[in-house]
Amino acid sequence: MTDVTVMGAGIFGLSIAWACARRGAKVRVIDPGGPGAGASGGLVGALAPHVPETWNDKKAFQFESLVMAEGFWTEVARAGGADPGYARLGRVQPVMDEAGLALARAREQSAAALWQGKAEWRVEPAGRGWCPESPTGQVIRDTLSARLHPRRACAALVAALQGKGGEVLREGAQAGRVVWATGVAGLEELNRANGRTAGSGIKGQAAVLDHDARDLPQLYADGLHMVPHADGTVAIGSTSERLYDDPASTDAQLDEVIARARAAVPALAQAPVIERWAGLRPRSRSRAPILGAHPLHPGAFIANGGFKIGFGMAPKVGEVMADLVLDGTDRIPTGFRPEASA
Ligand SMILES: Cc1cc2nc3c(=O)[nH]c(=O)nc-3n(C[C@H](O)[C@H](O)[C@H](O)COP(=O)(O)OP(=O)(O)OC[C@H]3O[C@@H](n4cnc5c(N)ncnc54)[C@H](O)[C@@H]3O)c2cc1C
Repeated sequence: MTDVTVMGAGIFGLSIAWACARRGAKVRVIDPGGPGAGASGGLVGALAPHVPETWNDKKAFQFESLVMAEGFWTEVARAGGADPGYARLGRVQPVMDEAGLALARAREQSAAALWQGKAEWRVEPAGRGWCPESPTGQVIRDTLSARLHPRRACAALVAALQGKGGEVLREGAQAGRVVWATGVAGLEELNRANGRTAGSGIKGQAAVLDHDARDLPQLYADGLHMVPHADGTVAIGSTSERLYDDPASTDAQLDEVIARARAAVPALAQAPVIERWAGLRPRSRSRAPILGAHPLHPGAFIANGGFKIGFGMAPKVGEVMADLVLDGTDRIPTGFRPEASA
């Protein structure tokens, strides 16, 4: 007997299914494209915090999720025997000028208060080698950022679910409580039904370079994430495109991203490009996740709007959705309710 059916095998759907399965529910996930067919089948995998200031529900939720991530992914790896590529190695960013230095030092203070000693945001002298160019000679290092490998993380969740007797299918019947975690397709369904925009797909292009920095922190420079992975590659992302003809193609905009990454981090100057990829981020109108009772399917639930930080949010999204779906306990922040993006 299936207790919960999750429509959509992206990071939101799989994390919710896993959170339900580990509490003993019998879970079925259905996705005609298979796991990671949407945005979650990407390359980047930066789990990085918002800046520690002007605290709000979204930042607090993401912070809790990032803190939970290590335990979450360790348990997933143990349950299914597949490695999601998670490591909390921190992040380094250059400080570009004196104003930026003053701001970075102020954030050092606010992180000490807001991050409750669970992670640090500190200003320190730039290092050599795997470090972005820094005009001030100073960098910001945070110890909260982590990385995972998006595709392997999805595969690890599938293995963990199957280890608990769950099913991950391309087609099948819905049974029990139903959660819709269908990414951009789910936002388009809301748009059609409401006659106005609840959300849309924002295209992103990313690349993988052959450079081994596997035990080193991720870098953030010139608006780009440079994320070393355990397989000896570095993922670079991303463009952010509202207008596009082909959601899956890569073009000169990605070439420019790669050139900017090479300019910001000399260690990448000669690294060959191994893979190019593009996908659509599900962005809600409010830019926050959409979590709660489904506005269109009576009795069902929705989890959408992961936008740029779906992997970072996933552990906490799984937890609050399992609370709601299995126990009827609603711990969802007000700004994440479907009404906020209606
Ligand atoms: C270039 C790029 C870089 C990114 N970098 C990062 C990053 O570094 N860190 C981070 O945290 N996030 C990042 N993101 C964002 C992250 O990928 C998304 O927020 C996340 O993948 C969204 O997950 P999802 O499960 O909601 O949607 P998706 O992964 O899109 O999954 C939705 C699934 O629903 C399925 N589906 C559609 N219709 C149906 C239906 N009717 N029935 C059943 N299934 C259906 C689809 O096949 C798909 O598999 C990036 C995104 C992009 C594009």
